[in-house]
Amino acid sequence: MQGTSEILERAIEQLAKLPGTGRKSARRIALHLLKQSEESVMQLADALVDLKQSITRCSHCGVISDGDPCSICSNPKRQNGQLCVVEESQDVYLIEKTNEFRGMYHVLGGVISPLDNIGPDDIRVKELMRRVNDEEYPVDEVILALNPDSEGEATSYYINKLLKPYDEIKVTRIAYGIPMGTELEFIDEATLSRAFASRNAF
Ligand code: ZN
Repeated sequence: MQGTSEILERAIEQLAKLPGTGRKSARRIALHLLKQSEESVMQLADALVDLKQSITRCSHCGVISDGDPCSICSNPKRQNGQLCVVEESQDVYLIEKTNEFRGMYHVLGGVISPLDNIGPDDIRVKELMRRVNDEEYPVDEVILALNPDSEGEATSYYINKLLKPYDEIKVTRIAYGIPMGTELEFIDEATLSRAFASRNAF
């Protein structure tokens, strides 16, 4: 049923596109915003526009960042030879919160998924190999921290195979201590921290 305001309906339609937001919550958010001061709604709108227009990706690790290189890649203390491979930027934030890892990251931007037609060339595997071969920042350990689902597993195996010829590089994977199929996003900090500390050779 259409409401009495097309403008309101248009806002609801846009909000309902957000993940986890159905039309009902979209309507609640729109009505909530309507009650806020113009200033606070403008701040939200500005933040959203900035999110799209000003944010960039670090050209080294691929993490979403305000600057290039990101604050992790530009920190010389983090160049300790450890490279942690994750699926998405979100995973970097989760691991950073554990304070367990002090090396560098590599964000793949996805995982190999033949069913979705996503192959190694569609994610940042080439960039990973370029970093591994970069003599300026030698890598001695690659830590695979991909989700323990079938796509994450397939991607871990693929990367492990590519790294096999590099005798000087140790390939490890984080230990999960949780059932297969659970995504990093749903693991509490303590478990993730433990998983990091007790990573295994791949
Ligand atoms: Zn970076």
